Amino acid sequence: MKKITNKNKGAEISSPKGMRDLMNEEYYAFQGFFEKAQEIAVYYGFKPIDTPILEQEDIFTTGIGEGTDIVDKEMYTLKTKGGDHLALRPEHTAPTVRAYIEHGMQTMPQPVMLYQYGPVFRHDKPQRGRYRQFFQFDLDSLGNDKSIMDALVIKTGISILEEAGAPNLSIDINSIGDKECRNGYIKELTNYYRKNISQLPAVDRERLKTNPLRILDSKEEKTKELNENAPDSVSFLCPSCKKHFKEVLEYLEEMGIQYNINKNLVRGLSYYTRTVFEIVEQNAGEDGSPLALAGGGRYDYLARQIGGKKDVPAVGMSIGVDRIVASSWYKKLSPRILKKPKIYFIQLGSEAKLKSLNVIEILRKAHIPIAQSLSKDSLGSQLAIAEKLAIPYALIFGVKEAIDNSVIVRDMSNRSQNTVKLNKLLEYLKELK
Ligand code: AMP
Repeated sequence: MKKITNKNKGAEISSPKGMRDLMNEEYYAFQGFFEKAQEIAVYYGFKPIDTPILEQEDIFTTGIGEGTDIVDKEMYTLKTKGGDHLALRPEHTAPTVRAYIEHGMQTMPQPVMLYQYGPVFRHDKPQRGRYRQFFQFDLDSLGNDKSIMDALVIKTGISILEEAGAPNLSIDINSIGDKECRNGYIKELTNYYRKNISQLPAVDRERLKTNPLRILDSKEEKTKELNENAPDSVSFLCPSCKKHFKEVLEYLEEMGIQYNINKNLVRGLSYYTRTVFEIVEQNAGEDGSPLALAGGGRYDYLARQIGGKKDVPAVGMSIGVDRIVASSWYKKLSPRILKKPKIYFIQLGSEAKLKSLNVIEILRKAHIPIAQSLSKDSLGSQLAIAEKLAIPYALIFGVKEAIDNSVIVRDMSNRSQNTVKLNKLLEYLKELK
């Protein structure tokens, strides 16, 4: 595609790196997904919310936590002229919790189940399936600590992915405990890495100081080897966390959802407690590795971390929409606004052109999708477009018809035509197949 050149600066005009324009088929593919995902979320009892794209930076730094890639390296932050420190949201969970607290949703029947979707921003290295502005569809259940809510969120996410066409889905799942048992586990894990510090690469030594759990999902080969024998969080769970985890797995089994307990799964955000999971498509990565389509978990302490007075037990997940829409299995869900035109509207002469939009308005109000060539003048060129687009009927509105308040309806398959009064047009069109 030709790049536009900004003559004043001599620089090429393009969207920022890792961010793109959604247009044409890709736009419809995204909209179709959002519509289907919303419909499914509503069936399971989720309600919509739409939070601002900008938030106070603090809610992410305290919630997602330092020592995570998102907070340390990937956030787009800005200081306003008034001195506020804001961030482009790198995810939807902390904003949803902020909204729950701000609007006193704890007084509503619990849990409050919300869905939201839209762009999120992370200053990551762009590559295939990895953008700096990308789209997530989130499901969150706030105000209840029961394991069935974890199962409900997972089930809703799986249903959305399956309806979008995803094959071979499975769940990687783990439990990282709560404040009762997690500290004991982190202590044990830290001891293990300290004992083996000579084998730990520099990035992971740094993590050992800020966020030792993150070493478990390190991409460094040396660390991966070391992780094979690292203590696993499940063996350190206190009785209530163990019970919770066991119940979540029982629900998954009952629903026939395949899972794999992945003891190295901790996820990149430090607000998680108890359940953490990823929904992966098997063999989907370039080298046959699994590809994460969605991820989530419990975040029972996040509300207090971002400034709430009380803990709000909650569980949620984020579905990565860009990867779904780009997949070969994506069903190309069509948005409802995309209607195949049944009628091609043709106008001839200035009197007709003048009244054309009134005729189109009659059709719009009757929900009849049309295509038109209002900018064209000759009958030949307009009929040629109608034929090319394979639209079954043409409406021809010429000077005579404009004066008579009528229109010619032409069947494009056999070229037969009838003149119909405008006030009888809808009735006439209804009779056509
Ligand atoms: P996370 O919020 O990191 O748990 O990510 C949830 C899902 O969002 C992942 O499973 C991916 O499908 C998707 N995702 C995460 N980061 C990116 C990115 N940079 N570009 C596109 N999709 C992403």
